[in-house]
Amino acid sequence: KEYLQIRGPRATWYRPQTLTQLLELKAKFPEAKLVVGNSEIGVEVKFKKFFYPVLIQPSLIPELTQPRVEENGVWIGGATSLNDMRAILSEQIEKLPSHKSRVYVAIVEMLHWFAGNQIRNVAAIGGNIMTGSPISDMNPILMAARCRLLLESKAEGTREVTMDGSFYTSYRKNIVRPDEVLRAIYIPHTAETQYFKAYKQARRRDDDIAIVNAAFNVTLDIQSDGAVVKDCEFAFGGMAPTTVLAKKTTEQMINKPWNQSLLEDTWRNLMADLPLDHSAPGGMIQYRRSLTLSLFYKFYIAVSVDTQ
Ligand code: FAD
Repeated sequence: KEYLQIRGPRATWYRPQTLTQLLELKAKFPEAKLVVGNSEIGVEVKFKKFFYPVLIQPSLIPELTQPRVEENGVWIGGATSLNDMRAILSEQIEKLPSHKSRVYVAIVEMLHWFAGNQIRNVAAIGGNIMTGSPISDMNPILMAARCRLLLESKAEGTREVTMDGSFYTSYRKNIVRPDEVLRAIYIPHTAETQYFKAYKQARRRDDDIAIVNAAFNVTLDIQSDGAVVKDCEFAFGGMAPTTVLAKKTTEQMINKPWNQSLLEDTWRNLMADLPLDHSAPGGMIQYRRSLTLSLFYKFYIAVSVDTQ
């Protein structure tokens, strides 16, 4: 199959039609940028004066745009626009028993607060993950839900990685190799006693970047005399150079009863787990630290009401 190539004085633009063509281009030009919505790259080129001589648009490639529904979750193509992802997940929410779609509900709700409709129509989920902004609105959800990423290169084929605490290595850097592309993201269902919520605090309600955002995932063992934490994962944005997991906090919650004393211990642990240096970029240090506590409080209340 032939594909479109546009050569300009400063940059060449490729639009491959198949995954093989895309992987061959990425092997030949590992520094090439995949461009989908251009909402990150455009800002880098226009305002930060970055120069990208090779651009590849993957929007015609089925493996990067078509969803694949599986028994316990759904694969979303890396080049799926945020609004298309919202439609795919909304369909799943309609079809599934309500407890299974708690991550999907959190994503759909968060997308309401993610940029404006024009951006959501073109910007892709893969671009948000690959950019790795510390205040990305999707990455805390994907990390707290332990989503898996399918990466692929011509040389090594496919590999699957979990979006855990080792995926982002430093500010806007991750473990994906230059010759690899992010082919798809697996978003799992939730279990019956698994609770999942995501929150964002920004200056404005609509179309604003987060000051702090968070996603909370807890699985409880619910008995007649109360509930005990069996598993949990909390992710925060705006508290470090990357989205981070509050690992020490969640480890200390395992097998503890879900009650007021757990709430207070967790607050103390979160303070230790998410320190923010007084000189951290973005300022508002005390406010951001206190937000981590109040967002967890919101989650605690929501789960306590749901399990009553
Ligand atoms: P692009 O700019 O096309 O690409 C971004 C990066 O990802 C590039 O480095 C590209 O090479 C790489 N990439 C893309 N796809 C792949 C792939 N499949 N494999 C490998 N690499 C890939 N973000 C938020 O989190 N919340 C907001 O509220 C928000 N609001 C915004 C408002 C405005 C006005 C703007 C301009 C941006 C906003 N953003 C926000 C940031 C941005 O829109 C998102 O990060 C978006 O998801 C990026 O997707 P894109 O397709 O536009 O990325």
